[in-house]
Amino acid sequence: MYYGWIIDPDSGFPIDEVLGIFMRAPNTYTREDVVEIHCHGSYLVLQEILGIITASGARLAEPGEFTKRAFLHGRLDLTQAEAVLELIEARTEAARSMAMGQLQGRLYDKVCAIQDSLLNMRAMVEVAIDFPEDKNDILDGAALLEKLRTEVEAPLTVLIARADEGKIFRDGISAVILGRPNVGKSSLLNTLLEEDRALVTPVPGTTRDTIEEVVNIKGMPVRIVDTAGIRNTSETVEEMGIQRAQAKLADADLVLFMLDATEPLTEDDLALYSSVKQNRKKQKVLLVLNKVDIAPGAAPETYRAALGDEQTVAVSAKMHIGIAELKDTVFTLITGARKGPGWDPGSAVVPNVRHKDALKKGLAACSMIRQDLAGDVSPDLLAIDIQSALDHLGNIVGETTTDDVLNVIFEQFCIGK
Ligand code: GDP
Repeated sequence: MYYGWIIDPDSGFPIDEVLGIFMRAPNTYTREDVVEIHCHGSYLVLQEILGIITASGARLAEPGEFTKRAFLHGRLDLTQAEAVLELIEARTEAARSMAMGQLQGRLYDKVCAIQDSLLNMRAMVEVAIDFPEDKNDILDGAALLEKLRTEVEAPLTVLIARADEGKIFRDGISAVILGRPNVGKSSLLNTLLEEDRALVTPVPGTTRDTIEEVVNIKGMPVRIVDTAGIRNTSETVEEMGIQRAQAKLADADLVLFMLDATEPLTEDDLALYSSVKQNRKKQKVLLVLNKVDIAPGAAPETYRAALGDEQTVAVSAKMHIGIAELKDTVFTLITGARKGPGWDPGSAVVPNVRHKDALKKGLAACSMIRQDLAGDVSPDLLAIDIQSALDHLGNIVGETTTDDVLNVIFEQFCIGK
């Protein structure tokens, strides 16, 4: 680390007092020689120093260029490079742990283990190609099928299933709170926000009308959209328009349908619910019976029976009663029964959408290998199908990934990462 001054070469004037660090390859982020200048963080100082550096022949880095170089120099595989982006974008502790696991090479190791088994199979097949007269002794179809099943297909299937779980924690889900005016929708939102707000920075250019609030439900970022509408307590159901409720519904994964425990079901409740029911596609619906603090005798079953037998929780948004149960129910409703209590984002290996696509193609190639092994196909064709499975897996870790795909991945990074 060197101490000194940055001097404007044209005017000779000092710009800032700085520390410069020289990091020698290969022990750097990109495996190249790297220089860092640590200056005072004012916008003007940064601009001036950058100006001097670029005038001297350097250029600004492209988005994700540092991580891309680290990948191209073999310091990170592609899954680890993608994990850097995920780490930057993680909004909950669960998403951060998942990204960290991937950065540590957890997915890479799994994919490599499957690749090794396939390589092993291909090696045997190649011996059979070289010694055609001994083909039947070399290739034990039953043993290869068993190896394919246990070492390749089974782990691929597990990884594919995990991808869907991962998506929930990475990208989150979207929810709407629906209910007639004054049932307590904004109170519930506020309570959820007070308890666990997910880390979000406002998106520039969004107006107050369309802003999303993101609440953190057991590590799952839950985007609650169009809260400005929800907050307008003077609106009647007619004003709000069944149409608007439907529009909100269209993008939602989850509907929290709110009812007021101090009153019996009203016409408005029923009208709103029937519009939810008519327009419901994949959405999960949870009935939230609110204000139980002042209606201790309210029986959730009565409301439930009248409204399609949806799952129901009783809460008081104002007094923070039943909120933990509400979160638990939302969590199980969204993640389903697939995830046992042992599922831990900190140790789980969770492929993203791109990985999932390649894993599925790899699994499809396995069924070709399976057909080859079941019939009496030539070792040459068998080798081609094994290679195809290997190529799909190579795509995940970046061995066979095309430049187009690499560009798409790294363009998502911000400059300087
Ligand atoms: P919204 O129109 O559905 O968004 O309803 P609000 O959240 O604005 O709540 C309407 C009224 O109900 C307000 O006066 C709240 O204080 C009250 N309220 C909301 N939740 C509860 C609750 O759990 N218990 C009680 N006692 N009052 C509540």
